Amino acid sequence: MQVQAIVQSEITQEEVKTSVPTKFKDESSKPQYKWELIWRNIILYIIMHLTALYGLILVFVSAKVLTTVWTWFMLVVGLQGITSGVHRLWTHRSYKAKLPLRILLCIFQTIALQNHIYDWVTDHRVHHKYVDTDADPHNSKRGFFFCHMGWLFVKKHKDVIEKTKTIDLRDIEADPVVMFQKKYYHLVLAPLIGFLFPAWVPWYFWNENFVTSFFVATMFRYALTTNCTFLVNSVAHMYGTRPYDKNIRPTDNVPVTVITGGEGWHNYHHTFPWDYKTGELGNYTTNTSTALIDFMAKIGWAYDLKTVSEDMIMKRVNRTGDGTRKFDNHQVVDDHDHHHEGDNLWGWGDEDMKDEDLSYVKITHRKAE
Ligand SMILES: [Zn+2]
Ligand SMILES: [Zn+2]
Repeated sequence: MQVQAIVQSEITQEEVKTSVPTKFKDESSKPQYKWELIWRNIILYIIMHLTALYGLILVFVSAKVLTTVWTWFMLVVGLQGITSGVHRLWTHRSYKAKLPLRILLCIFQTIALQNHIYDWVTDHRVHHKYVDTDADPHNSKRGFFFCHMGWLFVKKHKDVIEKTKTIDLRDIEADPVVMFQKKYYHLVLAPLIGFLFPAWVPWYFWNENFVTSFFVATMFRYALTTNCTFLVNSVAHMYGTRPYDKNIRPTDNVPVTVITGGEGWHNYHHTFPWDYKTGELGNYTTNTSTALIDFMAKIGWAYDLKTVSEDMIMKRVNRTGDGTRKFDNHQVVDDHDHHHEGDNLWGWGDEDMKDEDLSYVKITHRKAE
């Protein structure tokens, strides 16, 4: 009986093997992932989105106009903390900032409620260095939802954990503003600055109902800020043009640029991550973060702004672009310079930065010694 069962089982397996349709055979060659869910994050995100929906309804039925204006202002301020702050300053080191500006950007970043600077920088440097591989925390090859926010709902891939250990974080560990925020973020700073302060202002200054204020200026804004930022990881890794490097997945995407204050020139940004503008084109209306950094450079709070010479951009466009960026003497030359894993840089200070890259960097607003 037992022998019979074993034989039967082998036959059945053989039958299954030979009867797999071709399309499933192809799928079996795709990487298989273990999806170990992090229920705490899933539940928190469901609560966040439900309360945000309630907040959106309150915008139309009971919130005062001033409260809505304030909510928009908090959205803009929080996004600046992300774009000008944790992204362009702390992650990519594309410019330097004096202490008052670092404190200001740290407060702005706390308002955005996207975890503390230290973890944000860590994830984002790994993202750039190992973009769209299993070592990328939000590898866009794993689908739209995964790279948008699903990556927060499952345990990290072992490659992410391993490669994270190789990323140089000494510069942010040496910044007392970052380390202070890391220490007090969850217990003091995020609850006070990110959750309570945006809700308290409308209640205190123009007698808004506190509950309305909380759902609109805190929860609705929180979900909106988060989803706007995540568009860079999802939409701008899937849809758009690749003018600077067609061998990588990040794209230039104008709607994402407008929504995020200048972060949708993402093909450019992954090609030249040390450029403080994170884009070649666009003006202050589509790149408000650049406007803020330029203003801060004028008053002396920001300095050593790094950007890329047009000469280098043109060379790169000619060498690896998809032909959508036209220069007067533009010609698409495919020199088979295909992208290799390990060629990527996380920003200024990455030890793998080549001499050629360094020689084309323009540094403006140098600090007077
Ligand atoms: Zn970046
Ligand atoms: Zn990216």
